[in-house]
Amino acid sequence: MNGSFSELGLSAPLLQALETCGYKTPTPIQAQAIPPILQGHDIIGAAQTGTGKTAAFALPSLQRLEKSTGITRCLALVPTRELAIQVEENFKRYGQHAGLRIALLYGGVDYNAQIRALREGADVIVATPGRLLDLWQRHDIRLDKVEVLILDEVDRMLDMGFIEDVSRIINLCPRERQTLLFSATVEKSILNIAKWALRDPQIIDARSGATTAETVEHYVYPVESYQKYDLLLALLAETHFKSVLVFTRTKRDADRITEWVESTTHRVATLHADRSQSERTEALAGFKSGKYQVLVATDVAARGLDVRGISHVINYNVPDHPEDYVHRIGRTGRASEEGKAFTLFSPDEILYLQAVERLLGKTIERRRLGSFKYRFEPMMGNSAPTSLSTRRRNR
Ligand code: AMP
Repeated sequence: MNGSFSELGLSAPLLQALETCGYKTPTPIQAQAIPPILQGHDIIGAAQTGTGKTAAFALPSLQRLEKSTGITRCLALVPTRELAIQVEENFKRYGQHAGLRIALLYGGVDYNAQIRALREGADVIVATPGRLLDLWQRHDIRLDKVEVLILDEVDRMLDMGFIEDVSRIINLCPRERQTLLFSATVEKSILNIAKWALRDPQIIDARSGATTAETVEHYVYPVESYQKYDLLLALLAETHFKSVLVFTRTKRDADRITEWVESTTHRVATLHADRSQSERTEALAGFKSGKYQVLVATDVAARGLDVRGISHVINYNVPDHPEDYVHRIGRTGRASEEGKAFTLFSPDEILYLQAVERLLGKTIERRRLGSFKYRFEPMMGNSAPTSLSTRRRNR
């Protein structure tokens, strides 16, 4: 049991906000991380999105700030614009009774509104590294009064090549501060940062063995690569879904699949890094509001998205990085809603699938779509014969 929020030592305005949000009990990461953060400890939180990690760092940080001074005392650094928007929304929701000012800074959009928000005095800044550094270089930001530094999804920031920017930003903050580092994986590169950026951190692991949410049922659909498209449409036609997030490895695939799905009756939007910020915002807002039932996205664009009520995730490819599997299927079944995740798997992806299963420590159930006309009998076993595994991708 995780007890109640009031037992964690949270203040009345925050408890009131949580009641408005309808949160009844803390999630494991919240129960474990909030008390030490309130006591001022640095922490390394091993938790993927969907575990409630944003509230785990936002609530105690807001409590520490207490009321607005117009000086930036909390900085949350995140890898993508979409995640920045989401983290800012969380800060606003939880801090709704505290009157704190929050500035949201990310690239790809005009500077003026962001500079205005900074000039008005921001108690909290939520930012992606590139835009933050741009604004700092233009002397629009001061970080010398930061008391709480939050580094969210550090594994992804490293994957995206932000190590230098992130290191620079950490060094722009005062040495005397509290640092909260969150990452879905805690490998050597993460610990290396923690060694110099954190002080005597407590490690909190909320990944609980296999890292997929228990509320997600997930299956692998073996199929030859040239029939993936047909199988995807057949799955969409057969499945009763509210909303589906389709993941692709490349932007090109995302665009092609969007065109295919557009030719069906489903309303579809696309999210990837080559789309303009306004297109991305429109796609996401449309998906959240139900205007689009299907969202086709690449990992980078979709990582960390919190879209409530996604009933299904379909992986058009087995992801190259096994952790991405966990992130992808973590989009559904969030915070105890039920979800289903399907992965289309062609024989040339066997090594990727084996890596995922190694990470999860279990075999994912193979399924066959009864009504689908397979050109070749799908490979229902758990490992491929060598001839199949070495077969070249047929695309
Ligand atoms: P996160 O992992 O921070 O992206 O949170 C995942 C989702 O869980 C978000 O939609 C949160 O609003 C929701 N959430 C976070 N904490 C709780 C909680 N204690 N009870 C219910 N929902 C929560």
